[in-house]
Amino acid sequence: MAKTATAGKKKASVPKALVKAVKAAAVPAKKGRAKKHVYFFGNGKADGDRTMKDTLGGKGSGLAEMTNAGLPVPPGFTISTGVCNIYYAEKGRIPADIDREIEDNLRKLEKAAGKTLGDVNNPLLVSVRSGAKFSMPGMMDTILNLGLNDRTVEGLKAKTGNGRFAFDSYRRFLQMFGNVVLGIPKEKFEREFEAVKHERGAQSDTDLDEDGLREVVRRYKEVVQRESGKPFAQDPLQQLRGARDAVFKSWMNQRAKEYRRIYDIPDHIGTAVNVQAMVFGNSGDRSATGVGFTRNPATGAHEFFGEFLVNAQGEDVVAGIRTPQPISELEKVMPHAYKELRTITTRLEKHYKDVQDFEFTIEDDQLYMLQTRNGKRTGYAAVVIATDMAAERIITPREALLQVEPMALSQLLAPVFDPNEWKKLPVATRGLPASPGAASGQVVFSADHAVEWTEQGRKVLLVRKETVPDDIHGMEVAQGVLTATGGMTSHAAVVGRQMGKPSVVGAGELRISEQAKQFTVDGQTIKEGDWVSFDGLTGEVKVGQVATKPSEILQVVAGKMQPQESDIYQRFDKLLKWADKERTLGIRANADLPDQAALAYAFGARGIGLCRTEHMFFGEGRIEKVQRMILATNEADRRAALNELLPLQRGDFYGVFKAMNGEPVTIRTIDPPLHEFLPKREDLMVEIARLEAKGESRELTDKRTLLHRVEDLHEFNPMLGHRGVRLGITYPEITEMQARAIFEAAAQLNKEGLKVVPEVMIPLVGIVKELRDQKEIVDRVAADVMREQGVRFKYLVGTMIEVPRGAVTADEIAHEAQFFSFGTNDLTQLTFGFSRDDAGKFLGIYQGKKILERDPFASIDTVGVGALVRIAVQKGRGVKPELKLGICGEHGGDPASIHFFNQVGLDYVSASPYRIPVARLAAAHAAMQVKVGD
Ligand code: PEP
Ligand code: MG
Repeated sequence: MAKTATAGKKKASVPKALVKAVKAAAVPAKKGRAKKHVYFFGNGKADGDRTMKDTLGGKGSGLAEMTNAGLPVPPGFTISTGVCNIYYAEKGRIPADIDREIEDNLRKLEKAAGKTLGDVNNPLLVSVRSGAKFSMPGMMDTILNLGLNDRTVEGLKAKTGNGRFAFDSYRRFLQMFGNVVLGIPKEKFEREFEAVKHERGAQSDTDLDEDGLREVVRRYKEVVQRESGKPFAQDPLQQLRGARDAVFKSWMNQRAKEYRRIYDIPDHIGTAVNVQAMVFGNSGDRSATGVGFTRNPATGAHEFFGEFLVNAQGEDVVAGIRTPQPISELEKVMPHAYKELRTITTRLEKHYKDVQDFEFTIEDDQLYMLQTRNGKRTGYAAVVIATDMAAERIITPREALLQVEPMALSQLLAPVFDPNEWKKLPVATRGLPASPGAASGQVVFSADHAVEWTEQGRKVLLVRKETVPDDIHGMEVAQGVLTATGGMTSHAAVVGRQMGKPSVVGAGELRISEQAKQFTVDGQTIKEGDWVSFDGLTGEVKVGQVATKPSEILQVVAGKMQPQESDIYQRFDKLLKWADKERTLGIRANADLPDQAALAYAFGARGIGLCRTEHMFFGEGRIEKVQRMILATNEADRRAALNELLPLQRGDFYGVFKAMNGEPVTIRTIDPPLHEFLPKREDLMVEIARLEAKGESRELTDKRTLLHRVEDLHEFNPMLGHRGVRLGITYPEITEMQARAIFEAAAQLNKEGLKVVPEVMIPLVGIVKELRDQKEIVDRVAADVMREQGVRFKYLVGTMIEVPRGAVTADEIAHEAQFFSFGTNDLTQLTFGFSRDDAGKFLGIYQGKKILERDPFASIDTVGVGALVRIAVQKGRGVKPELKLGICGEHGGDPASIHFFNQVGLDYVSASPYRIPVARLAAAHAAMQVKVGD
């Protein structure tokens, strides 16, 4: 489980394994290294462009592209992501030649800006910001106002005629530099700031005048001297090197690593560093700074969305320190800049063909664009935006498909509150609806507690004063996140949306005491462990537990709501129909019972890839019959028990075939070891002891017989034991009964006019003769049933390929099989030698140490397990080109794995019913040759 990310980030040492991983990707030797490491942008021309995200990171490529498009972008340069790798390979040093390249670009920047770093009369100030290929909001470090020192601050004052502004900028820089580069805790600075405010009777930050700020600066420098043992670096070049290195270092801080783990972002891609001339949103009332989206990232609504602050710098907006104003207000205060911003961002949206998430600054009424990138959004918004943009003809339906991450679709299936239950509770307060979804849980006040409680099986709601990026591990497990401050674009709100985690932020009426582990709202005190619920779509917060109900899409799919009543269902359906046109892989479902099959069909599955017949044995009144079959000591008794099971299985198969409307249905013969259907040995022993105390009885004799059989069937390694085809070989009458149930159901439906072609699948085959043995039985029963019923129907007999020997002898097996279905759960277990039931205990550690990038039971190991799949495909089709191939392990619902299965040429994937929409979209992406994560 996620470890706490709250350790002091500067002190956190970089684990050796990570450094190694980065080093492996790095090119430390000068020879063979890329020639260019630094990319300039300014004066309407940039060295890079939007295609260079790998080298420049998202921010750098966006700045280059905007510069090339002639938009107002302050000049600057991007130090490439490759340099980050070099930095780690060289143990935290930047080689002299790259240092010189940076200085050359600095000279170019000075020329473009008409200012010089360190010049007392006309000082250039720069920002130094991180920017990886994939955006990692707030996870890495940023430094603003770099270039200020005791002399240039006076120059800035003289030049702007605004001493307050100059010293405000200096104190901000001192704090950021002290914190980020020197690792001094923020609180040490904040304490001094508060003290000066208090001494001078200032209510808010803006009440402090130049004199007050000069005092703050003096004290900040003392903090630096005291805490770092050195005076504050007055040399701007030294400042720049320190800031650059600190940004590279922040690539490996705890929260950035955690973020990459969650989002499967590799460590070796590194971050770029962007150095850019500062523009000042804090230079007076004609200045402002803000962030925004071209559409609402929570709901997808087509509205200009964002926030800004007058007379402020960027970090004030995102840090949630001052509550920003909605962007619509900007039209009133700075109409010109607002109009230009709308024009530019609309243009950018068309240019990038996607929602833009942008940052801007207005300095004395002049607008500057500081960033643009494709905006992160909730799954809900993704579907709304993609279908809207296609309707507006900004994108084609194919492009709309690529805009939506397949996994995002599962967010749309998340539960919502039952409106009747929700109405019963009064609204305690309201916050900003940062990420939609219904959340109900027991309140906790720290991310670590959220993790601990969740591990104990509780549902928690993470309540924080401010959402901070360090909370990421708690956000991951919580039902939802609720905060008292922070805006819609605060970093953690962005992260919450991206995770699809219901979030309400900025619920200003909450009085939270994280120390006392309680908050008050609406006259009530809520303590840790109390239940709270909120609706992430409206921002309403209520005290108490509220039952949730299925999402609109599920209601439509289940026939409880009409499609035309649900806008989101219609969009979802439209998108998936576009996906169906693109994909070449068939989509089937893993479903065992008629109602699951019906749900899967409604979600778009066209066929069942795996019906696990043993799941039918657990239905009401069935387990006793199954136990009687197992306890039988001779074939006659066993057949008698099986005869009782026959009509029940036949009824189930009939239902499943019918729910699939004649689409292919693969039914697998029994797989698990028989003892799984008997009571546990320990439980029986307790029961026997209890009965013994009462004296001899019939029940006691029965239990003793049962215990005896349980002990008989006991296996040390049941997953490698008497299961799958081995059961059918030792008890042929079980296969016989199952085949009969399948064929009698098929015969019945064929008589009723629904043509069904059953596919009988034998599990765990590793030796061709195993399959031959079982096939003989199946064929014999099929002939019997056709004769008895007087109907003819087609059927197929095939096998699962889930034992490595089965994969490597697939050519032999193909002679007997009409289809293969890859059982990648067992194939992964047997290839790695990892028990699928126990590997959870160490796989997390393997991932942490980067021995494995991903859990191979969730996402296919294309190298090892994948090699066996490829071999089986080649050998199988070599013998029988028409051999039907599918996959029914859990990987059938995982987008990255679907990509692989598409590539190796399978005919279909089979996934659990709720994953069908994800699989449909992922299969379309795979067909369009899009790499997952790109
Ligand atoms: C498999 O092994 O991948 C499979 C689908 O079968 P089961 O999970 O039932 O063993
Ligand atoms: Mg299996």
